[in-house]
Parts: sequence; structure tokens; C-alpha cells
Amino acid sequence: MKCFTCGSEMSIHKNSLFHYTNSGLSKVFLRGIKTIKCRNKSCAEEEVIIPNIEELHQLLAEKIARQSNTLLPEEMRFLRTHLGFSGVDFAKAIGVSPETVSRWEKGTVKMKEASEKLLRVLILSKFAPFRNYDELVEFASKSTKTPLKRFFKIDHSHWQESGAA
Ligand SMILES: [Zn+2]
Repeated sequence: MKCFTCGSEMSIHKNSLFHYTNSGLSKVFLRGIKTIKCRNKSCAEEEVIIPNIEELHQLLAEKIARQSNTLLPEEMRFLRTHLGFSGVDFAKAIGVSPETVSRWEKGTVKMKEASEKLLRVLILSKFAPFRNYDELVEFASKSTKTPLKRFFKIDHSHWQESGAA
């Protein structure tokens, strides 16, 4: 396989640890996927193959929705887009102005706890009813400024969370 950019040979790397910044999340790392890298060091063209991306995003969304840390702007945005809402539609749906959603996602205004919990419940009820109301108390109970580092691995084309080691 040849590089589209420079025409050099490309090589396949398996099981490389991939920093998945395209998710919009700054600290998500993937294991077990293939990356195709250009051998020309000055080109640095890289392609990534992420199988079953819907499952990965659903898992990621559920992990974020269940965290006790308050949602950071990048996490809010990830959850909102995972539900298929534009900023304007999400604002309409939950009864705030589009400017408010935009300020939440820029981090200039903190999301109200009730809105944050609603967003999480929407995520957790996407495929099955959410009835574990005791969990609601834990949601957004800890304040933080940095996202958790999260690692995921793929095994027989299914995603699961994996430890940092
Ligand atoms: Zn190249």
C-alpha cells in the first residue's frame, strides 16, 4: 500500500496505543487497533482503522455519563453529539437558550447540576430504560478540571474498557 500524500510505502502497525483525539475527547486511548503509517518520516501520514466505532462511542458515552466527576466541556459536547443533537436542538429540547449550550461547551459557564443529570439520563436510557435512581446522587458529585484518562481495547471486534497498564 502506497501513501496518498507522498507515494512512499506504508506499514501496518498492530496493537499500537492510539490517542483518539478525533473523538473530541482529550484523554481517550485505544488498544488493539491497526494504524497504517507512512515510512517517509518527513511525511508522517497516518491512517487509523477503528472497527465497530458505534459500540466504542456508546461505551464511552455510558462511562462518561456514569462518572462522579462533573462533566467537562468536551464531555458535554461528546454526549450531546452522541445523542444526535445539534447545539440548537439540544437547547430547545432541554429548555435553555442556544447561547447557554454554547457557553457550557466553551467552558465559560458551568452547566447546572439538574441539566447535567438530565443529559446523563438521556445517554443511559438510549438503549434500555434507566431505573437505577440511586445512581443519580453520585452523578456530578465531584468537581474536577481535568478529564479522566480512559483506555479501551478491542477484542474479537468488541470494545471494552481496559486498565492503564
Ligand atoms: Zn507519505
